[in-house]
Order: sequence, then C-alpha cells, then structure tokens
Amino acid sequence: MRISRSFVTALVAFFLGAAVVAQRGQSTPIKPGEECPAGMTEVRPGQCQAPTMPPPSIVDYRPRSTLVVPAHPVPRAKYPAIDFHGHPGDRIMSAGALATMVSELDSLNVGLMVSADNLSGERLRQAIATIAGSPQKDRVRVLAGIDFRDVGPGWADKAVRQLEADVRAGAVGVGEIAKSLGLSIRKRDGSRLRIDDPDLDPIWDACARLNLPVFIHTADPQEFFQPIDDHNERWLELALFPGRRYPSDRFPSFEELMTERDNLFRRHPRTTFVAAHMGWHANDLARLGRMFDAMPNLSAELGAVLYDIGRQPRVAHDFFVKYQDRILFGKDAYEPSEYPYYWRVFETRDDYFDYYRHYHAFWKLYGIDLPDPVLKKVYYANALRLTPGLPRGAWRQ
Ligand SMILES: [Zn+2]
Repeated sequence: MRISRSFVTALVAFFLGAAVVAQRGQSTPIKPGEECPAGMTEVRPGQCQAPTMPPPSIVDYRPRSTLVVPAHPVPRAKYPAIDFHGHPGDRIMSAGALATMVSELDSLNVGLMVSADNLSGERLRQAIATIAGSPQKDRVRVLAGIDFRDVGPGWADKAVRQLEADVRAGAVGVGEIAKSLGLSIRKRDGSRLRIDDPDLDPIWDACARLNLPVFIHTADPQEFFQPIDDHNERWLELALFPGRRYPSDRFPSFEELMTERDNLFRRHPRTTFVAAHMGWHANDLARLGRMFDAMPNLSAELGAVLYDIGRQPRVAHDFFVKYQDRILFGKDAYEPSEYPYYWRVFETRDDYFDYYRHYHAFWKLYGIDLPDPVLKKVYYANALRLTPGLPRGAWRQ
C-alpha cells in the first residue's frame, strides 16, 4: 500500500497539534448545557480553552470595527423635536444660561424642551419668569413636581393646592415623578409608599381635572435588581455606580414595582400618564405593546434606552409604526453631543455604529429608519397632543 506524502504530513501535523494542546493542558471538555470554567471559552462544541495571553479586562477591551458600510450621521433632527424629558437644571434660572442652551438646541433642531426637574413653588415661578421674559420664551416649558414626603392624613389636600398654584404659575404637567416613589420613599407611618397607594389618588384625579400629563419614572432597568454576576448585561454600570443596585433584601423587586405602577395606570383611566424610559420595557417591546393595548391613557418616552431600541432595528421599527401615537422623544441627561445618536437611530438604516455610553451597552446600534409621518409624531405631535400647555407656533398641526 502506498501512503501519500501529504497524508503523512497531515498525520504528523495532527499529532503535533494534539501534543501542543495536551502539553498546554488548556482544553477542557464540558457536557451539553454546561458552561466553560472561569477563564476559558468554548472553542469547539464541548471543548473549552484558555487564551494563551492574559485577557484584557472588559473595561479595556475596545476592539476597532473593521466593518466598512455606508454611514449617515445626523447632526440635526429632520423635524423640530420636543425633548419631553429635559433636565436643564440651572440653565433655565438665568437669561444668559437659557440663551446658551437654546442656541445649542437650535444646532440640534430641538424646538422645545420640557423641563422635568420637579420644580414647584418659588423656584418654579423663577424659572417661568426667566423663560417668559426672554427672547426664547417659546422654547422651554416646565413640569411641576409633587412632594411625596410625609404622605398621611391631610397630605393630599396640601399637595393638590400646591399643584393648582404651580399650574396657575404656568406649569404644563407633572414630573418627572422620580423612581424614589416606590423604591425608597416612606409614609408618615414609616411604611414604604407604594406607587398605587390610595392616599395619592386625589393628586392623580387633580391631574385629570387640570388636563396635565403625568410623567413618571418607575424603578430602573431590571438588571439593577439582579445579582451582579457574569450574566448581568449591566455588570459594568453596576460596578461603576454601586448606588444603582437594588438588592432584594432592601428593595421591592422589579416586578413588584411594575405591578404597582400598572395598578396606578389602570385605576386612573382619565389621567394621562407618560412612562419615562419606555417603562424600562424597551428590551421587551411586546410587553409594552400589551400595556398600550390595555391602557389607552398610557404613552411612553424613550430617553436613555436608545441602546435597546438600536439593537433590534426590525422589531423596533415595526413597534414604532404600530404604536406611533404613543411614543414621545425625550433625552434625559442634558448633553448636546448625545442627541445626534438618537436622530441617527430614528432616521437612518445605518448598520453597526457606536453608542455614546459604553457602560450602558457593549454592543453597537442600527438605524430603525422611521417613515416621516411616524417621525413627526414621535418628535413633536404626540407631545403637543398630550400637553395642552405647550406652545404650538413652530409646528403646523
Ligand atoms: Zn429624568
């Protein structure tokens, strides 16, 4: 029998390779369903191996993409947008700071910012006076804050009176009701103030009577309530910001808070609610869709969840088209350089581009390519419809 030279070469290479692996001792078998041991990765089905070099930490690993595809950055929104989730802070407390902020908003084509800084009383009046007395008077509107401390007998009357005074001073809605409602605020009797506590009902009824949208942030991403381990998508964020962890021995669970929130929405069908951050369901849009179907008084704002919208371009596109009357643009933290990422996700069909905050997401974004009529609703028309107190000048309805 003749043995070909190439066969011998292949045989030698095979045994040499096997010898190298055996020598390193790095190949470890696992059973179906098992994970590789720490420090190893699955190189072939059922075979784990350790890198031959010390791996970089996830903090330092920043691979440069070699993908070459068309890119269409969008520095300005296609239509003048209303930022329903603004946190201007002191930028609306003086004429100079207001003018600077509005010139930044001009360059992004943000036509109006809704301040969701929970202003009330004297500070709210100061902000509104600054805005009303400026050349930028139609560029910012202010939501009123509710003080949820000390809820008990007599609280609701006082809170409703304060809200009515804030509305007379020019507030156009309520918010942003903070996540501390549900997570941490205590009642006068020391018990946790539940989001659906009946003691709060007079406030929600007043919002319906005064035609004020209620902008409410409940809980936080569900991973913040989970163990911080190798499977947690927000490991880096939780390691950077320990205050964002909600361990179950000290806080209600994510689902408990969602149940209380949904009870609130259902029990007050005449009150308009806008759930901040898409209710933290941008990672499960079908769930948010079921909520929209069951609760006609509910809309959602999309600030700070772009990482979830942009990683499911087809599902998100279809969701935005189906629920085009229920979704409002908002940005949350004020940072002008970050708005264009939103425009690019909504307006293009670009593939695989960077997000602005690595610790939110270790993945890339894709454009969801919304049709113009949907863009207009998300950018401004839904906010105008839900908030009678907004100036309409810049938008022909
Ligand atoms: Zn906010």
